[in-house]
Amino acid sequence: MAMRHNAKSTSRLEWSRRQFLAFSAAMPTFVLSAQHAFGDEGISFPTNPFTLGVASGDPEQHSVVLWTRLAPSPLELHGGMPARPVPVSWEIAADESMRAVVSAGSQLATPQLGHSVHVEVDQLEPDRWYWYRFRCGDAVSPIGRTRTMPRPQSLPERVRFGVTSCQNYEQGLFSAYEQMARDELDLVFHLGDYIYEHEAGRDGQVRTHHGKEIVSLTDYRIRYAQYRLDPLLQQIHAQCPWVVTWDDHEFDNNYAGAVSEEDVDPVEFLVRRANAYQAYYEMMPLRLRNMPRDSDMRLYRTSSFGQLAEFLVLDTRQYRSDQPNGDHASPLNDAALSPQQTMLGTKQKGWVCRNLIRSTATWNVLAQQVMMGMVNRSEDPGNPSYSMDQWPGYVHERMRLIEFIRDRQISNPVVLTGDIHSNWVNELRVDDRRHDEPTIATEFVATSLSSGGNGPQRPANLDATLSANPCVKFHNGERGYIRCDVTPQKWRADYMVVDDVLKPGGQTFTRASFVVESGTARANLA
Ligand code: FE
Ligand code: CA
Repeated sequence: MAMRHNAKSTSRLEWSRRQFLAFSAAMPTFVLSAQHAFGDEGISFPTNPFTLGVASGDPEQHSVVLWTRLAPSPLELHGGMPARPVPVSWEIAADESMRAVVSAGSQLATPQLGHSVHVEVDQLEPDRWYWYRFRCGDAVSPIGRTRTMPRPQSLPERVRFGVTSCQNYEQGLFSAYEQMARDELDLVFHLGDYIYEHEAGRDGQVRTHHGKEIVSLTDYRIRYAQYRLDPLLQQIHAQCPWVVTWDDHEFDNNYAGAVSEEDVDPVEFLVRRANAYQAYYEMMPLRLRNMPRDSDMRLYRTSSFGQLAEFLVLDTRQYRSDQPNGDHASPLNDAALSPQQTMLGTKQKGWVCRNLIRSTATWNVLAQQVMMGMVNRSEDPGNPSYSMDQWPGYVHERMRLIEFIRDRQISNPVVLTGDIHSNWVNELRVDDRRHDEPTIATEFVATSLSSGGNGPQRPANLDATLSANPCVKFHNGERGYIRCDVTPQKWRADYMVVDDVLKPGGQTFTRASFVVESGTARANLA
């Protein structure tokens, strides 16, 4: 049990037991026997149970989540673990060699949660780095590095973070993470498509998914395990805390709430969503308050880097209405413009507005999934066409949101986006079709880490796209991520690209850099 924060850890454990009982009621195969597990320190693994490495996430000024999951045979049923709870001890230290341990404790890894461990360490010092590791029986995990956020009222000199998304395992290697690990980042934001649900071989270019299209909880667990076995992904998770959100492929392509892109019974679809969400929770360094209930999981949340940046991490999948116009690229017709269309849902929309008003941060960031820029993708000027899966399919809500940001004079609004497998810098107006309107916010869209395989520096339709869309300042089709360096005076975004994701050893370099000066909302080539 916790050596330092005894009382608190015990009550947390009690709470956890109640949660586990709720889970075991739903899964009668597993009988919870916590008292049996306690003191079961003699467990011995024939092979390493820490094959999936360690991770940390959602830091606050005094606290951070430490994560691991026991899986001696990660691609097998239950990760090769017995169907009973196993105690895992953890420790966190102020130094790399783990000599100055500042806190330690123990938590049960249960079969109900795939033998994952989510430790919410508290009473840490603000704005400093820590090192941590886990132990189970005679096995010891690798050491991970993490950090806390600065005090809420402080104004830090800078924050550096990576923005990544869309890491299809079959379509490319995760080579860019090798550079990201060298970038000395404070944080990594993952904006979704952490896994892809497709069956083995469908997207195969460099390696192959394990098994068929994923549907059951076991399928999702094994798919996450396969991705996390990638040594470069594991390394960057161990390097600094992550703040994650999902997009569609963590569950199913282009889903909208309980609506499938195919003709699937909504009840059956929600059972599958429950499996997908649970496996996501198990695999990510998330807090207990984000644990899914049935097929729902509250993932939208804030993250504050002192007064420098306030991040609103959004969920644009779970609460959205169905894509209009059959999810086909369409003009902004009545269906797309309908006020009934919602991307965020009523509750989340209210939450976004409340948090934006309340924020006193220099930079106010929406970390989210789909492109907000109203980008016309048609090469025929008389026939504009927009993606209905992105914000243009929900354009009424999108325009009201930008209006709100304008009217409430929200300080330095920036939108971070994934999903589209290409790089973009967009200047956002209330209506991007009206080029004479003032720019209200800047959108940095990060390309995919690997999805799509190698892409062109100059997309085929680049000139047409730029001339049809004066709001677009940059567009590029290569693989990589965005590295952001933010100070009270300026936001710098480096578009990092990889020369080749189809061969090991791909080299990552800066393709272009953009700077937004505080107070301007205009992105200029650095
Ligand atoms: Fe994707
Ligand atoms: Ca997507």
